[in-house]
Amino acid sequence: MRIKVQLTCTSCGSQNYLTSKNMKTHPEKIEVLKYCPKERKVTLHLETK
Ligand SMILES: [Zn+2]
Repeated sequence: MRIKVQLTCTSCGSQNYLTSKNMKTHPEKIEVLKYCPKERKVTLHLETK
């Protein structure tokens, strides 16, 4: 059982990554440090639907 989620930059709000996760192993929200091409730096990205 996997669902698609988008990773949204918390700094500028742009949706930079599309990923999927397993709800059984990852029921909590994903928080990852990823590169934001809009700001050209690494920022915190949060899972959004
Ligand atoms: Zn950004």
